[in-house]
Amino acid sequence: MRHTADVVIVGGGAAGLSLAHWITRTGTSEGGLGVVVVEAPEGPLRPAERTWCFWDDGPGEYEPAVTAEWDRLRITGPDGGAIEAVPAPLRYRMLRSAPFERLVHGRLAAHPRARLLRAVVQDVRGGGVDGAEVRCVDAAGRPLTLHGRYVFDSRPPRRLPPARTTLLQHFRGWFVHTARPRFDPGTAQLMDFRVPQPDHGLAFGYVLPLAPDRALVEYTEFSRRPLPVPAYEAALRQYTGRVLGLGAYTVEGVEQGVIPMTDARFPRRRGPAHFLIGAAGGATRPATGYTFAAIQRQSRNIAAALAAGGASEAALVPRPHGRRALAMDAVLLRALDAGRIDGPRFFTGLFDRAPAERVLRFLDGGSTPGEEFGIGLRCPVGPMLRTAVELPFLPRRIPAPHPEENR
Ligand SMILES: Cc1cc2nc3c(=O)[nH]c(=O)nc-3n(C[C@H](O)[C@H](O)[C@H](O)COP(=O)(O)OP(=O)(O)OC[C@H]3O[C@@H](n4cnc5c(N)ncnc54)[C@H](O)[C@@H]3O)c2cc1C
Repeated sequence: MRHTADVVIVGGGAAGLSLAHWITRTGTSEGGLGVVVVEAPEGPLRPAERTWCFWDDGPGEYEPAVTAEWDRLRITGPDGGAIEAVPAPLRYRMLRSAPFERLVHGRLAAHPRARLLRAVVQDVRGGGVDGAEVRCVDAAGRPLTLHGRYVFDSRPPRRLPPARTTLLQHFRGWFVHTARPRFDPGTAQLMDFRVPQPDHGLAFGYVLPLAPDRALVEYTEFSRRPLPVPAYEAALRQYTGRVLGLGAYTVEGVEQGVIPMTDARFPRRRGPAHFLIGAAGGATRPATGYTFAAIQRQSRNIAAALAAGGASEAALVPRPHGRRALAMDAVLLRALDAGRIDGPRFFTGLFDRAPAERVLRFLDGGSTPGEEFGIGLRCPVGPMLRTAVELPFLPRRIPAPHPEENR
């Protein structure tokens, strides 16, 4: 069977559904663009439910699906010294992927020109200026070909592109329910460095309270290799017990993941009408792993360009992050990987010496050059400069195979 649509979106995760949302949001009229989202049926290609956090300044597009939000952030150094920040007007917000999917699926179902198709995409042929072809197999095993004027592809790459530095942000978290109230639901603990630091990279605890007796508590490392599950579990037991002193609790859910932090250059186009979006197109901020906010920015821009009908196709998918931000992240990643800077001290210092709102906008790529210069001065200037001088001479290498994101 062969179908035609203006826009075919491959993958219905954060990027695919966000783009479908932004394209269909502006026009429910018959005149809007027709959109088909092709999402893998239940099975090995579908990621496990996950939690996306980001900051923004108001009721956003996915308000009904927001699980929790926090006005205050805390960063705790290895010595227990805590920095509390109120990044107003920004708030730190949590979306879980299942309610997000239900929300966007519902909106697409109500739109006259949008459709969600359950199928495995096997191949996208770049085609010519008149569009690209998406070859799939549907849930019943039948082959199906879609033709899209534009195809936006968010399938995770099998291999990461060559990079000078590739670290992994890898973590495991427990949704805990404590016997007594132990959490302050108004404060998200972004980084807590009171955990043993690995020989290479850095480690921290992360606590997102959902109620006085409920929270997502994670152990996270930025390093070269993920850990075996028992090592994460031991670190979580140590953190919840000795550091947080949670007392008796039950674990009601688990979340685990790996987010590559790399200075690789991600292609944004595979053919005249075949574009890469989301993490596959480089939306992950290399120095932090945050991706969701960049996905929203990118989706909004693509939808606006499509609606205007005038964007040159080469410019249809804008860079998810500016060149300056990527250059600074490359230096930071390298300095961390080389052990030239003390990770806990670096991240604690960032929040200690600059207003939280400015730091968060910097981490999202929304700060001005002047603000970035100010933040840069608060970094360990010597090691960062040495690293910056060295970077252009380092080769880009293909990293070891991308580890399974979710287990
Ligand atoms: C556990 C975890 C927690 C994270 N938390 C945060 C966070 O708090 N904040 C943040 O900013 N970022 C976070 N990230 C990083 C990033 O936001 C997520 O990885 C995000 O899901 C990336 O969105 P995406 O659309 O690019 O990829 P995905 O959301 O993984 O979407 C890809 C989609 O493609 C589909 N697919 C794959 N192959 C095929 C195929 N052949 N045919 C059809 N469909 C296919 C999959 O089913 C999936 O739905 C997290 C990542 C992980 C792994």
